[in-house]
Formats: sequence, structure tokens, C-alpha cells
Amino acid sequence: MLRTFLAVAAATALLLPIGAQAQPADLIVTNAKIATLDAASTTAQALAVRDGRLVAVGSAGELRAFSGPNTRTVDAGGRTVIPGLIDSHMHAVRAALSYSTEVNWIGAGTIAEAMARIRTAASRARPGGWLIVAGGWTEQQFAERRRPTMAELQEAAPEHPVYVQLFYEAVVMTPKALEALGVSAGTLPAGMKPEADGAPGWMTGDIVGISALFDKLPKPTYADNVAGTRAFFSELNRLGITGLVDPGGFSIAPSQYAALFELWRDKALTLRVAYSVFAQKPGAELQEFRELTQMLPMGFGDDMLKFNGLGERVTLAMYNNNFPDAAAKEKFYELIKWAALRKLAVTIHWQENGSVDHLLGLYEKLNAEVPIKDLRWSIAHLDDASPETLARMKALGIGWTMQDAMYFQGDRALAVRGEAARRMPPIGSALRAGVNVGAGTDAHRVASYNPFVALQWMLDGKTASGKPMRGPDETPTRERALRLYTAGSAWFSFDEAKRGTLEVGKLADFAILDQDFFAVPVERIGKTVSLMTVVGGRVVYAARPFDAAGNAVAAAAP
Ligand SMILES: [Zn+2]
Repeated sequence: MLRTFLAVAAATALLLPIGAQAQPADLIVTNAKIATLDAASTTAQALAVRDGRLVAVGSAGELRAFSGPNTRTVDAGGRTVIPGLIDSHMHAVRAALSYSTEVNWIGAGTIAEAMARIRTAASRARPGGWLIVAGGWTEQQFAERRRPTMAELQEAAPEHPVYVQLFYEAVVMTPKALEALGVSAGTLPAGMKPEADGAPGWMTGDIVGISALFDKLPKPTYADNVAGTRAFFSELNRLGITGLVDPGGFSIAPSQYAALFELWRDKALTLRVAYSVFAQKPGAELQEFRELTQMLPMGFGDDMLKFNGLGERVTLAMYNNNFPDAAAKEKFYELIKWAALRKLAVTIHWQENGSVDHLLGLYEKLNAEVPIKDLRWSIAHLDDASPETLARMKALGIGWTMQDAMYFQGDRALAVRGEAARRMPPIGSALRAGVNVGAGTDAHRVASYNPFVALQWMLDGKTASGKPMRGPDETPTRERALRLYTAGSAWFSFDEAKRGTLEVGKLADFAILDQDFFAVPVERIGKTVSLMTVVGGRVVYAARPFDAAGNAVAAAAP
């Protein structure tokens, strides 16, 4: 069935000038298998875009009416087209700042491959320049099932200081790096200590200690920040990502949003960003938020960049703290009440179901005083949420941003929790409870940013080492998983009516994939890439057989 502006106009008794339907499109994608993800799960063959929005979705024949002399037509070669993916919890603004000066091990299957990436980076870096692996890997991804040693790193880059971080748990530095930072066993930041088992160079710590250490590393320049933001967003486009909900983070101050803002001003953003402010001033968070938001009302911005409220650190005293005291809770309450009165969205980092009553109790109390139900507050992580917790979240209108943490850390969760780990995270339970769920990764320090790795994990529940973990009750269908990564995530920035599905009137954000997400074996989904990514009708990424302008440069065959 053809869905056009005219059909919508007729349905809503909105009058358009005669001939409106014949107004040519800027872009038509045809010969495609389009997963529109509309309510009826329609698969269409073609879509047409004008002024950044979809003006028609239907069969190739029906769409011919939208072709004019200046219309660019892309033959998708029978490939699958999906709505652009949206990560609902990625520390992308921060990741982007250093993307042009870091080495990543995402997808490296062996230590040899990881060392080869260090070697390549060393050959490109300026003499003596730092090589930094800032997370996004686990020893479980390596065939060797162990961490690289300091000696291996030294051998790969003898002339460069090397810093490697494993989650927020451990760090290894080569002697050159230790020397450059003036760090020795006696001068480690508070909370960090040499690894107990004596692995040379490895040290352990918590998020605060490791962040303090990370902050000692030389900072990329502003030019690096801008180049990194462009490059990182382009890398995300390569994986079909067209939108992000960004929760701020440690080690990124408000001043460091300048590169993002410059690209937005220059109309050079290649994906849509909704960002929140992350408390940076322990004990003075309310004052900090008051100052930062005086000129920043909730939702301020446009479809490319907008302000999305507070979090994921709301107060330090309630951050990653399973035992908040009465004073911490009182201060937190004062802050969330202030936020609710201003209709600010609040997203918060919370890990453990066992302690979430501290948080939900305060939210319930607040909701009785100032309703928060329509403010789209959210909890990030909470991989072991119980049915009771999910029911309480549903009652408060609180959404859940769910990430593939268990892909990386599941082996440990299985060892510690046993059978209980089979429902981590409880994707199926959350959907049955009617909680709004967004998908994502929590990249890049603790996880890979690859949405297809996350989608594969959503479907097979297997950890990075290939161990089956999550049970069938908590496993969504392929379509459902994709919905969580599109409209599901869009909900968290109040955007599900604008994007996340491919329907007439919506923003033209989509990706042509190299393989059929719905048909390939599950274990291959993680290898999927986009061949063409479009944001607001603009081609932001293209690979063969398409050229940078989005034209087919070779006969397209699926
Ligand atoms: Zn978090």
C-alpha cells in the first residue's frame, strides 16, 4: 500500500495544493527490502525523501510518481533497509574527543591482532606519542583468554608510552608510560594498587581511581577533538547509527562539548545527538545544574542536537552507591524535585536490583508530590532488575536503557550468580511489564560501540567467549530487538514520533545493510555493516557498491 503525504493529508483533512503528490522527491531508494517497523510490520520496496523527510513508502511502481529530473535514485540491489539505529546510552561525545588519538581493540580476536593494531598505531604516531587503549575490550574476546602482558605491549611499541585500560577495573602501562606520568607503586592515585597476582605493570582500581589516572594522560588538542568527533561519528554511521542519547561521563567537562557544538553550528553532524549534563561537582550538584540549565530549557535545540536533561550522574553520593545514607538521599530528593518542577528528564546510573529500592522509594515519594510520569526519566544498566522493580518503574513511567554489558562481563556474572544470570538482563520481562526499553552499548570505555554486536547478543544471549547465558524467556525476536534499537531508543529523547520507523512524515534516517538482518544466521549478525547511511535525507556514509554521493558505482547484487 502506498503511504504518502496526500494520504496522510486526506486522513487528517489537511488540504494540500493540487499536484502536491507529484512534487518530485530529492531521493528515492528502490529495489529494496525495507523494514519500515510501522505498527503492521510492513515491508516496502521503495521510499522517497523530500526536505529531509519521508514523503512516500510503498512499492517501486507506486514511487515512480515521485521521480523528477533532479531526483537521485538509489537501486538498493534487493538489500535490506532498516531505520537508522539509535544507541540510548553511549558516552559518544567523550569517546569522540580522543578517537583520533586512541587505538581500539574492538573485534580483535587474538592478542596478536591487538598487538598488530598497537604496532600500526605506533608506526603512524609522532615520535614518542602516546598509544592509548581506553577500554572497549575484554580478555574473553581473545582466543588466548587472557590479558596482554606489559612485555608484549613493550615489544609492540618500544618507542612509545602505552596505556591500556580494562573496563574500570584494571590498567597496564609500559615503563615509558609509567615514567612519563611519574607513576610508581608508591604514587598511584587513591584506590589503585598493583595487581595482587603480580602481573607486571597491571594495576587495579575503581572508576574514581582509574578516571584520576586517565586524567593524567596528555589531552588531545581541540583540533584532535574536532577531527575525532567527525571520525567517530562517521565510524558509527558505518554501522548504521543515525542517533545517540549521550549520558555525559567522567573526564568530560562542559567546556569539552565545544567540538560537538562546532560541528552542529557548521551543519556537519552526521548523526543526531541528545545530550544530558553529568554532575561534575560533588556535593554541589544542585547548584551546578541550576547554573548550567538557566539558559538551557529541557528539549532545547533542534533535530540534530538537543538538550535532554540531567544524568547519568545526578549526585556523586548516589552514584554507583548501594548504601546511600539518609543525608545523601535527602540531598538527592531536593535535586530531583527541583528537576521535576522544571520538567527536566533525569537518567541515572544504577547497577544493582538489590539496592534499587533506595532510588525507587525516592521516585515514588516524589511522584506523589510532583508527578514525574510523563517526564521520561530513566535508569541505565540494572541488568538484574526483578519483576517487582520493573513493575514499579512502569508505574512511574520510568524507562530502562539496556546495554550489552553481559556480552563482555557475562562470564563473570555466570560464575558469581549461576542460574540467576539466565535472566540478565531481563529484556523479555521488561517488555512484558510494559516498560519503555532502549537498546545500546554504554561504549566506549566499558564496551564496544558496535550495535550489531549488541543486536546479536540480544538475540543469542551469548557472552564474548561464546558461552550461552540469557534464557529464551528474556530473548526478543529479531524485529523486536531492532525496534528497541530504533523507536525504543528514540523514546528517551521524546523522538519516537519523529524517527525510529520508516513512515511518511518521519525524518529520513535509514541504512542499507550489507546482509539481511532478518535472514542471516544469528551468529553472523555481529558482522553486519551499513553500505549506505542516510540522515535527514543526506547520505552521510557510503561504501561499495555505492559512492560517496550515494550512486551505485557497480551493478548492485545482494
Ligand atoms: Zn552508567
